[in-house]
Amino acid sequence: MHRVMIHPASYDNCRNAVDRAFELFPPDIAGKKVVIKPNVLRTSKADEHIVTHPSLLRAVVEKVETMSPAEIVVGDNPGLFNYGDNENSFEQTGLMAAAGGYYKNLGNTPQHVPFNPDFMSEVGVSKEILDADILISLPKFKTHGLTVMTGAIKNSYGILPGAQKARLHRIAGSPERFHDVIVAVFRLRVPDLFIVDAVVGMEGNGPASPDLRDIGLILASNNAVALDGVIARMMGLDPSRLRFLQKAKEMGLGEFDADKVDIEGEMRVLKDFKLPPLGGEFILNNPVIQEFMETKTKVRPQANPDLCTACGACIDQCPVSALTMKDDLPVVDADRCITCFCCQEICPEKAMTLK
Ligand code: SF4
Ligand code: SF4
Repeated sequence: MHRVMIHPASYDNCRNAVDRAFELFPPDIAGKKVVIKPNVLRTSKADEHIVTHPSLLRAVVEKVETMSPAEIVVGDNPGLFNYGDNENSFEQTGLMAAAGGYYKNLGNTPQHVPFNPDFMSEVGVSKEILDADILISLPKFKTHGLTVMTGAIKNSYGILPGAQKARLHRIAGSPERFHDVIVAVFRLRVPDLFIVDAVVGMEGNGPASPDLRDIGLILASNNAVALDGVIARMMGLDPSRLRFLQKAKEMGLGEFDADKVDIEGEMRVLKDFKLPPLGGEFILNNPVIQEFMETKTKVRPQANPDLCTACGACIDQCPVSALTMKDDLPVVDADRCITCFCCQEICPEKAMTLK
C-alpha cells in the first residue's frame, strides 16, 4: 500500500507540513549527499507560481540541515533550451536565496547514460542527480498542455541539461510518445521523496498559465505514481486515462488505484478545476510550434575563432566526445552532439556560441 500525505499549509508556514512529510517518509540522510530539485521551469517571479515556491524550498533545506547530511545540493535545469540562464532563473524566482548557499548549476555536468533507443540511444543526465544518495523532488501542482498535469513524474524531466528536453519533445512527435519519454527519463533516477507545492496551484493552460488557484496544501509521498494519481483526482481527472501514469504503473513504478493508496489527510476534488484545452494535441500537433521546436533543436555549438584560446576545456567536458580540435578550434560532430550545451557553459572565454 502506498501512502500520500495531504497537509494544510501556507507560504508563511510550510515547515509543519515538511516536518510531517519527513516523519511519514523518513529518508536516511545522515552522512549522505542530498540533492533537492525544485521545479524551475524558467525565469519568472515567485508570485507567477510557474516554479516551486521559494518558501517550500527554504523549509526543506532547513529541515535537511538538521539531519546531518554530508552535503546538500540544490539545482535544476530550467528551460527546454537552457541557453545559460540557470543562475538567472534561480535568482529571479527567489529560489537562489531560498537555496541558502547550496545552489549548484546542474547544467555543467552531464554524464552520458544509455536511454531508450526508440528515442535517443543516450542522454546526458546531471552528474549531481546520478551521484545523489538521496534525491528530493519538489514538484509544483500544475496543469500542462502536453501531459495534462505536471507533478512528481514530470518534474524529473529537468534532470536533463540543455536542449535535450526540446530534442526529445521533437523526436517523440506525438503526445502519446512524449508520455513514454517522460516515464523513461523519470526511471533514470527515481527520487526518494516528493514534496509538492500545492499552496497555490495552477489551472488552465499550464505549465505557465496566469490562472492560479489557492489550494492551501502541501502533498508528499515516496511514490510518484501514487502521488500523481492523487493530484490527478484532485484536478477531476481519472488517473488511468493519463498515459504517462498508466505507463509508469505498467512498468511497476507504483499504483494509483484508490484502494492501493492510503491517504493521510483529506482529499477533495477541486471544484470546476480548469484543464488544458486540448490535452496535448495543442502543442505537438501544432505546425507552428513544431517548426519552432525543429529550428531550436537543430542548434549546435560553434567556437568563435576570435575568442577561442584552444584551451580544450569544452572537449574535456563534452559527455559524448562530440568535439575535436581542428586547427586550434573545437569542431562539433552534429550527429553525436546531444545538445546539452555544457561546452558553452564551461568555456572561460565565452567563445562557444550556438548556431
Ligand atoms: S573552452 Fe572555449 S576557449 Fe577553450 S577550446 Fe573550447 S571554445 Fe575554445
Ligand atoms: S558538443 Fe557541447 S552541446 Fe554537444 S554534446 Fe558536447 S558538450 Fe554538449
